[in-house]
Amino acid sequence: MNTNKTQLFNIGFDEFAQWLKSKSQAKYRANQVYQLAIKGYEFDDMQTLPKALRQMLSENFIAQAAPIYDVYKSQIDETEKFLYKLSDGNIIEGVLMKYHYGYTLCISTQVGCKMGCTFCASTLNGCERNLTAAEMFGQVISANKHIGDKGNVGHIVLMGSGEALDNYDNTIAFLKLVHNENLLNIGYRNISISTCGLVPAIYRFMEEDIPATLSISLHAPNDEIRMQTMPIAKVYLMDSLMDAARAYVKKTGRRVIFEYAAIDGVNCSGQHAIELADRLKNLQCHVNLIPLNKVEERQLNPPSNNNINAFMDKLKSLGVSVTKRRSMGNDIEGACGQLRNKKLLLEKEK
Ligand code: SF4
Repeated sequence: MNTNKTQLFNIGFDEFAQWLKSKSQAKYRANQVYQLAIKGYEFDDMQTLPKALRQMLSENFIAQAAPIYDVYKSQIDETEKFLYKLSDGNIIEGVLMKYHYGYTLCISTQVGCKMGCTFCASTLNGCERNLTAAEMFGQVISANKHIGDKGNVGHIVLMGSGEALDNYDNTIAFLKLVHNENLLNIGYRNISISTCGLVPAIYRFMEEDIPATLSISLHAPNDEIRMQTMPIAKVYLMDSLMDAARAYVKKTGRRVIFEYAAIDGVNCSGQHAIELADRLKNLQCHVNLIPLNKVEERQLNPPSNNNINAFMDKLKSLGVSVTKRRSMGNDIEGACGQLRNKKLLLEKEK
């Protein structure tokens, strides 16, 4: 990381204002700079600032912590995938989806991931480092700049590369930044945080006064199958994960979302539906069923439409609230981490 410069949104507004004051700048400059940076301006492009101030800011701060480096547009829907280049040269990816209610941005929380889920491309090279709050915030700013006058990101899902709760403090700082009414003012209820099931972090998160949606990647009806695809399942057994989910619902009054990637021949038979329904009995929750995005590097495939529908119908008949999530942007390296891996490979071959 470029250690000489501070990412602007990594220091609080008051600290930044204090810094400007120490440089004999007028009080209103702090807000002026913040508002321009939120619009995606680099310091050099902030023409309403005196040149000397622009230069001083450039020498000390990074305005845009995650500028877009490459854009891939889906040919089958309006999904766009971004590669962002960080100031240390690392590349991360994100996905912008357009729904009838507006834009949803899927952001990354780490460079890579160490959790090792076998169906995921993000983890193939491990975790390089945590993202800072400013780098997560920067992904939203850059997406808004890309959207331009067509709208703004209204919903955020922390489901890109990385395990959000493994980067706990920065994730919480990011949520507060993005929710700040003087910054992007995105409602917590429009934000979903995904975890592969870090039980202690779930208990910690329920104590925060942050009513975002908690999504738990379950992907299996029992420990045996979960352990085959998610190494974290060996650390926290399903019983303890379910206890944490129940405690979360009790504490917050909000339901939990379970993400369930259906994998052909692995986790979506009729018997699996019965087992899963039993696990979720009397738990205020919803299951998001997702046909697995095929990852070339792994020998796992999505089930046929008929099979996934049969699995969903069985769950419904057993009283489980479940919907099948539409896969978006499948023609542009659908699974998280795939696009970044491909880009890194191409750069290596150059
Ligand atoms: S699915 Fe999520 S937690 Fe699992 S390896 Fe991929 S990014 Fe990490």
